Amino acid sequence: MTTPLRVLVHGGGIGGLTLATALAGRGHHVDVAELRERLEALGVGIVQPSNALHVMREIGVLDDCLAAGFEWEVLTVCDPAGATLARIPQPRMGDTPSANGIPRPALARILADAAVKAGATVRFGTTIAELAEDADGVDVALTDGHAGRYDLVVGFDGIGSPLRRRLYGERYAPEYTGFANWRVTLPRSPEVQGVVMSSGNLAAKALLTPISTDLMYLGSVFAEAEDFRPDPERAHEQLRERLAGFGGPIAEALAQVTDPAAVVYSRISQVTVDEPWHVGRIVLAGDAAHASTPHLAQGAAMAVEDALVLAHSLDAAGTVPAALTAWEERRRPRAMWVQGLSRAVLKQETGTPTTPEEDELLEVGIPGAAHVLVKPY
Ligand SMILES: Cc1cc2nc3c(=O)[nH]c(=O)nc-3n(C[C@H](O)[C@H](O)[C@H](O)COP(=O)(O)OP(=O)(O)OC[C@H]3O[C@@H](n4cnc5c(N)ncnc54)[C@H](O)[C@@H]3O)c2cc1C
Repeated sequence: MTTPLRVLVHGGGIGGLTLATALAGRGHHVDVAELRERLEALGVGIVQPSNALHVMREIGVLDDCLAAGFEWEVLTVCDPAGATLARIPQPRMGDTPSANGIPRPALARILADAAVKAGATVRFGTTIAELAEDADGVDVALTDGHAGRYDLVVGFDGIGSPLRRRLYGERYAPEYTGFANWRVTLPRSPEVQGVVMSSGNLAAKALLTPISTDLMYLGSVFAEAEDFRPDPERAHEQLRERLAGFGGPIAEALAQVTDPAAVVYSRISQVTVDEPWHVGRIVLAGDAAHASTPHLAQGAAMAVEDALVLAHSLDAAGTVPAALTAWEERRRPRAMWVQGLSRAVLKQETGTPTTPEEDELLEVGIPGAAHVLVKPY
């Protein structure tokens, strides 16, 4: 399609801002409606594997991501005492770097600036108040008083997606996996030159991830009751209790965790929308459609791939519904593969029984997955 389309992106997170940049850069009229008042309060950091960096290059922000983050090539696997078991070089997608750790607020700022520079309008502190679709378009009123008619509405509104609820009711509410992630941002130790993953005979995993020249984060996964929340006064001590069996670099990092307010706790949930991801001209993408556990560090990578492939599909198709069908045919198998393997890894690492299909996926494992995912998206 060459006609400029009017597109509303609901959710200005990682996927939504990537889509806004890609579409506005092609001359489409893009509004982003983001519920948060501002970008900064986004916490912790993220790994951008090579496939995600490839998308960043395509939308013109690769150098900014590398400058704000910490580029790395080798995943180090340790036993719980800290002895190195393996050093696994991470593959590249073409000549794109292997991986980059980056603070989430820095990535959000880079993507928001890119979207605005490309011509998108990013509205903060707003959401959809009313939405009515007919065969030719979608009329939307936002809570900030803005109203418009759009050719396409994209729900990049995250794992709790209100747009998903609007389309499918409660059928695809996030499923809690029984596990939660504890993370703390710390000064980077000079020896942390890439992700250091420590797991073994403990029913837990801990990771150190460099996210800038100065910073890294300590992350770990434990089984937690669904209604558990860390004690705001002693979250750091609760994390220490859980990581008591770890030595080496994990224990050294843990010694620096002294502020309960610095501990970020997230329950790990997943979403699988079994029905088509679009209804008419409204489509779900990223976590809203297929949130997975973070075990492959690929959730945001899938979201940015979704975004770029959607832009390509709109370039190639004759109508919006045809583009959405073509897009989903391309995206669903890859996103579901990531989700299936991520869930299988979580089960394997926590001693949860796996299905025969999961055992087959586990033969690929985390190192093999990196090689699969540097193939074209
Ligand atoms: C512990 C943990 C670690 C992870 N680590 C990695 C990693 O290292 N690498 C990786 O690739 N992925 C990682 N992920 C996954 C990654 O964070 C997500 O997959 C990714 O953020 C999904 O992008 P998205 O754009 O779909 O959603 P999000 O980035 O969640 O963005 C959704 C946006 O929608 C907005 N929104 C919500 N409701 C509304 C509303 N009503 N109106 C308007 N806007 C709304 C939100 O404020 C948000 O800005 C991790 C996830 C977890 C939980």
